[in-house]
Amino acid sequence: MRRRCRTASSRRAGEVVLDVKEARKEFGGLVAVNDVSFQVRAGQILGLIGPNGAGKSTTFNLVTGVLPATRGTVALRGQAIQSLPSREIAARGVARTFQHVKMIPTMTVLENVALGAHLRGSAGVASAVLRLDRAEERRLLREAQKQLERIGMADRMHELAGNLALGPQRLMEIARALAADPMLLLLDEPAAGLRLKEKQALAAVLRQLRDEGMAILLVEHDMDLVMGPVDRVVVMEFGTKLIEGTPDEVQASPAVRAAYLGTEH
Ligand code: ADP
Ligand code: MG
Repeated sequence: MRRRCRTASSRRAGEVVLDVKEARKEFGGLVAVNDVSFQVRAGQILGLIGPNGAGKSTTFNLVTGVLPATRGTVALRGQAIQSLPSREIAARGVARTFQHVKMIPTMTVLENVALGAHLRGSAGVASAVLRLDRAEERRLLREAQKQLERIGMADRMHELAGNLALGPQRLMEIARALAADPMLLLLDEPAAGLRLKEKQALAAVLRQLRDEGMAILLVEHDMDLVMGPVDRVVVMEFGTKLIEGTPDEVQASPAVRAAYLGTEH
């Protein structure tokens, strides 16, 4: 029941789901994330872009609890999460995908997605599955099927995950993240290596989830994908937030062109 409540309330469009305030991460003398602040609201896609080494992945890791912040706060619907372990953060409704798809290639798409419904995290996959009883297993498979239907992949669910092309694999990862019933979805370069058609399919799924009230943080290198479905963009350079704005505002910024777009072309 608690999960249902959470999903319903997260659909209050515009509510601040993720609030990052002056987050800082130092590695020895290197400031990887330099007092960065931003918010992601329900029903919004925030793109986080910047050149290599800008601090995007580190920021992502601060939000998911993979790395502890040196300073600053990360709040999920008003509750501080920056000192919680990543499993606890996942359990509170933060789901992520990985830049390199994590899956068990010899299991079906449905089974791979079902793992996400059980885990809400990344650790202990096999042992968790082995401990399931039959009723729980059926529930997870039903949930997995629902999420695959939600993103238009039901027709592929009995295929082996390892046989899918990269585009459908990325969508499978999104379905798996959704099976954990998140209010915030974090995507790490989901368009990397995709063909145009696959990027378009991905963008359509992201738009749909946004319209359903999901808060989405998209770390992305691919400018086309960022500027398509994204509502707001944060640009980072050398660990510092350079600018935040709409895709149009960001693209028009001379500072961004110099720091980022210039290096892309
Ligand atoms: P991006 O994802 O934007 O390419 P990262 O967040 O991966 O950038 O890296 C930001 C900076 O922090 C880089 O200079 C990188 O070398 C450094 N960095 C990232 N992770 C670590 C780490 N675990 N230890 C030391 N330095 C790191
Ligand atoms: Mg990175």
